[in-house]
Amino acid sequence: MSRLNRPIAKIAGVCGWPVHHSLSPVLHNYWLRASQTNGAYTMFAVHPSEADYAFKSLKKMTITGLNVTIPLKALAYEAADDVTPDAQKLGVCNIIYKSGDKLIGHNTDMEGFAGPLIEQVGHRFILNNTVVIVGAGGAARAVLGALMEVGAPEIIIINRTDSRAEDLAANVNIPSLYALPWAERDQAVYGAGLVINASAAGMKGNAPLDLDLESMAPDGWVYDLVYTPLDTPLLKQARKIGLKTISGLDMLIAQARPSFKLFFGEHPPRGLGVKEKLIAYLKAQP
Ligand code: NAP
Repeated sequence: MSRLNRPIAKIAGVCGWPVHHSLSPVLHNYWLRASQTNGAYTMFAVHPSEADYAFKSLKKMTITGLNVTIPLKALAYEAADDVTPDAQKLGVCNIIYKSGDKLIGHNTDMEGFAGPLIEQVGHRFILNNTVVIVGAGGAARAVLGALMEVGAPEIIIINRTDSRAEDLAANVNIPSLYALPWAERDQAVYGAGLVINASAAGMKGNAPLDLDLESMAPDGWVYDLVYTPLDTPLLKQARKIGLKTISGLDMLIAQARPSFKLFFGEHPPRGLGVKEKLIAYLKAQP
């Protein structure tokens, strides 16, 4: 087909404020090139005060959809005409896309979190161990939703602001889920098989997560959702005492797969060393 006869490319992107740090364009454009899909993926810096207008303008533009990052996830939920059950469970969207004349809000964070967890830790381990979630924001809600679907028998939530952990636990009426005070965080991980950092602590520019993992089960796992830096102080501490680790990059890739399918109509290619590409990209950043 000549270049002139090619159909108009599908355009998608990521929006946030700020957004320049996002790895999504690197990831999606890598998949677009590898699969020779006729599309483009870019980034849009959208100030929260303009977000509603920006989302609604999608209806008038040839943009298929957007990934939504901090701090616009709740605003995307508000702007959507309809939300999917996964978005409804979390009350925030990490994707907003067009379907006919409607804007649909969706969330792939539960799926993105659970994929690497099941693949690496395994269902059986989760069913036999206590899990501790650090954080009480949107990511923590996705983690909680996924763990409940998997059937984790005991879940403890700790958060810097105690009341937010208590609210999150109170919203879900199961006795094996409870919040513990931030001041008791080191005791909260005692004997736990899996600790998940779903807080922003340890992210580039933030202080490391102040949590002593020493008393965790010796065969335990630590899953850090933070991926900048790739190797967080929490993951380093975990490895040093013999715990196994999962980095936030695995979740980033897993949550992006269903977005690619929604925006470009096909599954992204598997394999091809996409994780290694992202690691190399991150290492080259100042
Ligand atoms: P959010 O809704 O803004 O929540 C932030 C959470 O982090 C809150 O619970 C906050 O506690 C806590 N926090 C912030 N700074 C802290 C510190 N210095 N010490 C302890 N706790 C701190 O953000 P989110 O959307 O849940 O995202 C949380 C993290 O997950 C971010 O780092 C984000 O990049 C990461 N994430 C990764 C992926 C992935 O694909 N890998 C996907 C989604 C999110 P307070 O309640 O006390 O403020």
